[in-house]
Amino acid sequence: MLVVEQIGEVREALKAARTKGEVIGFVPTMGALHAGHLSLVRAAREECECAVVSVFVNPIQFAPGEDCDQYPRSITRDLDQCRSAGVDLVFNPPVDEMYGTQRVTAIGMSKLTDTLCGAHRPGHFEGVMTVVAKLFNIVQPDVAYFGQKDAQQALVIRRMVTDLDFPIRVRVCPTVRDPDGLALSSRNAYLSDDERTRALCLSKALGEARGLVRSGEKNAETITARMREVIESGRPEHIDYVDIVDPLTMSRVTTVDRPVLVAVAAKIGAARLIDNILLDVNSSEIIIDDLSDTSADAEKDGCSSDC
Ligand code: AMP
Repeated sequence: MLVVEQIGEVREALKAARTKGEVIGFVPTMGALHAGHLSLVRAAREECECAVVSVFVNPIQFAPGEDCDQYPRSITRDLDQCRSAGVDLVFNPPVDEMYGTQRVTAIGMSKLTDTLCGAHRPGHFEGVMTVVAKLFNIVQPDVAYFGQKDAQQALVIRRMVTDLDFPIRVRVCPTVRDPDGLALSSRNAYLSDDERTRALCLSKALGEARGLVRSGEKNAETITARMREVIESGRPEHIDYVDIVDPLTMSRVTTVDRPVLVAVAAKIGAARLIDNILLDVNSSEIIIDDLSDTSADAEKDGCSSDC
């Protein structure tokens, strides 16, 4: 496995793969890798001849006062995990390499970011889109892998790829959870034992929504009110949002009469945690790949169940 820090080294290293016509799969991450990240790596490994992972804590997607400086960093362990997973190339640039020159260009989006994390973290998605666009231009993958855990991010990236004609197929893989339901997140490292127990209120609230929809409840306000009660029982420091939105537009829905994304964000201790599930009216869970416009014409090869 090759580990490089310079953009030029990535380009050089991938030349051979490209010349051989290998399919390049790419997993962008901020490191502190866990089984959620590794599920994306596994999908890339299985579906592509060449698997590339980036590890970069992107400062421009954090607002002042957020946890950029505290964000867990464990590059030695990350590299071990990538090596064991059969990754071919890890790109781990220093901040200067990505943002050394005075940056005056950014990518923005006029829709899809008015709700959920877009509403609560001003500038966040501009930072995400900008770094992902840079990474796409550096790595030039054929396929890029994202997690449904960050559903709004996955949708935003998909849309960016479509609108800006990146020749890249975006795959969205299901959220990996601990057996008790807690969605894996690098930020779970901030949680004390007590906070980790309290953090279960997020997945429990989503389970509550699933149960209500399954039993025929269609009123979004009724569902989110009940979810808030469940979250409050975990004594969060703060609830950012509890929302039911259209998974393709991220706009709020009032009646659950079609597939919806149920999404929550709350601060437990020092950790701002997010989680979501996709439900259809028949209450069987679906995943974002099923709803994707850009993957509709792509070959379906089981990422939804396998990754
Ligand atoms: P991050 O390092 O948090 O920026 O995440 C890198 C990628 O891993 C993103 O596409 C995330 O959506 C994905 N990811 C993070 N946590 C999980 C999880 N629990 N299950 C599946 N994918 C995840």
